[in-house]
Amino acid sequence: MNTKIIYLDENKIDESQIKVAGEILHKGGLVAFPTETVYGLGADATNIEAVKKIFEAKGRPQDNPLIVHVADFESIKEYVLEIPNIAHKIMEAFWPGPLTVILKKSLKIPSITSAGLESVGIRMPANLIARELIKAAGVPIAAPSANISGRPSPTEAERCIEDLTGKIDCIIGGGSCQVGLESTIIDCTTDPPCVLRPGAITVDMLRNFDERIYIDRAIMKKPELDFKPKAPGMKYRHYAPNAPVKIVCGDLQKTIAKINEMVQNYMDDKKLVGIIATDETICQYLQGEVVSLGSRRHIETIAQNLFETLRSFDDMKVDIILSEAFDETGMGIAVMNRLKKSAGFDIIKV
Ligand code: AMP
Ligand code: MG
Repeated sequence: MNTKIIYLDENKIDESQIKVAGEILHKGGLVAFPTETVYGLGADATNIEAVKKIFEAKGRPQDNPLIVHVADFESIKEYVLEIPNIAHKIMEAFWPGPLTVILKKSLKIPSITSAGLESVGIRMPANLIARELIKAAGVPIAAPSANISGRPSPTEAERCIEDLTGKIDCIIGGGSCQVGLESTIIDCTTDPPCVLRPGAITVDMLRNFDERIYIDRAIMKKPELDFKPKAPGMKYRHYAPNAPVKIVCGDLQKTIAKINEMVQNYMDDKKLVGIIATDETICQYLQGEVVSLGSRRHIETIAQNLFETLRSFDDMKVDIILSEAFDETGMGIAVMNRLKKSAGFDIIKV
């Protein structure tokens, strides 16, 4: 398949190009596009054949539901049975933005989109290219991250091009994703609502609207063998670069010493080692391929750079990746959630 590649500037969107891409979606094709979280791989959420193609292009398991993206509040009414009060409040507060709300779905959302569930996750993205595209398509857009299933999500157009060229109809490049981690997911079909995936909209921010909102306990631990997840995606290997990742966790100076010791051992075995460091610590690593995610004082920057850094270690063909850990507070919860999954929960405590 010939993949059309379009580059757009969010501040000066070329309407004629958006129309072309919207038309592709309207006719049941696949388009990758930028959002503020990560790049998405979109298809008409109401078209069974189109949605099937998403699962095929990504190699995504069929029991992993898709998030449906809309461009305005009005249109969601068609696709859900009811909107509880709390859902109303948080959508009003955080939309457009990196928050997915799970609601009971109407018959207009086919079973393949929700992976057989009676509910559907809905989000209104903040990125203007994304919203203009959804409007131009004239249909709600089912869109998981635009990568081959299991790999770190793309936050740069080049990563979508790498993974999906030849497999989909069109890729829209629109610069780096601002947030860099997937949306927060909150299940509003239960009372109180439960956070199923942490993201830039933190649990603390959500608790301002209902203090009973809680985070699913299964999120931060290694899934048990008989684990029955509330969000089907929780059980899959995720965000994984080619090389295994190990996280070293504890006092920062002890972490650095431990990583340096491990680097030496791997190098003795002729292994190429990648190190995930921070601006505050990078100068204390004298060997290995060291990359800083940014300053520890700006967890947003760390989040923004995480997936691209994991991907860059694939390019460097490292044999092993060693990472520092981050405080599990605020958005650090989302960062550690993705990092732990990418490491398959291989954590060394110091
Ligand atoms: P992705 O599109 O790859 O970011 O993954 C979307 C994730 O949203 C899935 O893996 C599920 O964990 C979650 N999700 C989507 N829809 C639902 C739903 N109806 N109920 C529970 N979780 C959902
Ligand atoms: Mg994904």
